[in-house]
Amino acid sequence: MRQPLVAGNWKMYKTVAEARILIAELLPILSTIQEVDIVLCPPYTSILSIAALLEGTNIHTGAQNMHWEPSGAYTGEIAAPMLAEFCKYVILGHSERRGYFGETDANVNRKIKAAFEYGLLPILCVGETLAENEAGITEQVVVRQVKAGLEGVDPQSISSIVVAYEPVWAIGTGRAATAEGANTVIGGIIRGTLAEMYSEELAQMVRILYGGSVKANNAGEFFQYADIDGALVGGASLKATEFISIVKAAAG
Ligand code: PEP
Repeated sequence: MRQPLVAGNWKMYKTVAEARILIAELLPILSTIQEVDIVLCPPYTSILSIAALLEGTNIHTGAQNMHWEPSGAYTGEIAAPMLAEFCKYVILGHSERRGYFGETDANVNRKIKAAFEYGLLPILCVGETLAENEAGITEQVVVRQVKAGLEGVDPQSISSIVVAYEPVWAIGTGRAATAEGANTVIGGIIRGTLAEMYSEELAQMVRILYGGSVKANNAGEFFQYADIDGALVGGASLKATEFISIVKAAAG
C-alpha cells in the first residue's frame, strides 16, 4: 500500500520569524498524524531553522528547486548536497519554474538525477497549461513531461519518486480540476506511462499527488480516488487550519 503524502509548497512566502510561527501552529496537531507523510517546503532561507524545529518529528523538510550540478560557479543557485544536509524531498519542475524561469524537460531530468545521486527524493511536477488543455493535448503534454523528466532514471530509484499532477490553470486560481478529471490523468495517463517505462509493479509503488487549488473544503474529494495518493498544496499550506484539515483528509 502507498502511504499518502501531503506536501506544502510555501513558494516565496514567509520570513524565518513568520515560518516559526506557522510551525508552532502546525506541529502540535500534525505531529500526531502518523498515517500521512507530511512535507513542508519553505524558501531556502527558512530551511535550516525549520529542519531544526522538525527534527525527530514525522514531518519532513523539502526544497522548492535546486541546480543539477553538485557545486560550481552558478551565482544564486543551490546544489543537491547542500539541500541533502537538511531536506528529504525536493520539488522539481514546478510550473512556476518552467513558466517564469525557462526550465525545460531536459533541465528537470538533470535535476531529478542529481537529486537521487545525493539522496534527495524528487517531487516531479507535471501538468498542462490552459491553452494545452483547451487544445485537447493534456495527455500528450503530461506523457512528454513524465518521459523526458525520468529519462535514464534507473528502476531502483523510481519507486521512491513522487509525481505531482498540477494542471497549470488550476494553480493559485481557486479553480481546481475535478477529482474525477485528476484521477483520469493520474491513474490512467501518469501511472500508465510509468508502467510502460518501467513495469506495472513499479508504477503501482509510485505516489502520485494532485496539486492545484487544493483547500480544506475540496481535499477529501480527491483522496476518495485510490490512485490519488495525496496533494501538493500551495496557497492553503500557508494557513495552519487549512493545511491541517487537508492532512487529516488524507489520513482518512
Ligand atoms: C502549487 O504551488 O504547487 C500549488 C498547487 O498551488 P495552489 O495550491 O495555491 O494552487
